[in-house]
Amino acid sequence: MNDLVTLQIVRRLEVLIVLFIPAVLLHVASQHTSRLFHRVTIGRLKAVLFILSFVGLTCVFYDPLLDAAIAAQDRTCIDNMRALSGALLIYAGDWDNTLPPDTRWYNEAQTRLGFDKKGRVIRCPASESPYTYALNCSLGALSLSKVSEPAATVMLFECDASGPNASGNKEFVTREVRLRHPEGPHFAFTDGSVEHFFLRKEWNALRWEP
Ligand SMILES: [Zn+2]
Repeated sequence: MNDLVTLQIVRRLEVLIVLFIPAVLLHVASQHTSRLFHRVTIGRLKAVLFILSFVGLTCVFYDPLLDAAIAAQDRTCIDNMRALSGALLIYAGDWDNTLPPDTRWYNEAQTRLGFDKKGRVIRCPASESPYTYALNCSLGALSLSKVSEPAATVMLFECDASGPNASGNKEFVTREVRLRHPEGPHFAFTDGSVEHFFLRKEWNALRWEP
């Protein structure tokens, strides 16, 4: 799972614990302490509650920063996929509406990227992998005129790849990849659009064949 997402979940659990445990402790104390020590115990628990609440508030305070960092990763990934799918469509425009072979799709896309991305390894910032995007192997060297539903047919998808010119199908969208972004992994379609899908039933409905 993405480290930032894991950290966000841990912090939210901490807040829940901070709110829940003191309430339980106070309840137990009120049930089991004798009258003689009751006031002393409750007083100590209030002090503990104060300290834990301070820690909890600190966690809540830092959550927006984490949310912003995760959202920035999300935007960068979407920008990357838009740039790569746009470059592939430019290639198709140069080659009689045909996509490049799946063995060198990334190399071909690289030569048609904008100056801000040209020459750089384009990868998802939410992943540890050096290469994170793959071409739908059913579309390699295929004429786009054979794609019956361009807006629903996957062209690029997120994965953990061993090289830049990776290709495959939905089997490559592993559990790790599905947990990469809070709102699900991104897919680029043959019309150039990019969307994320969270639930398995949603990505099972994607078209992988032209
Ligand atoms: Zn991504």
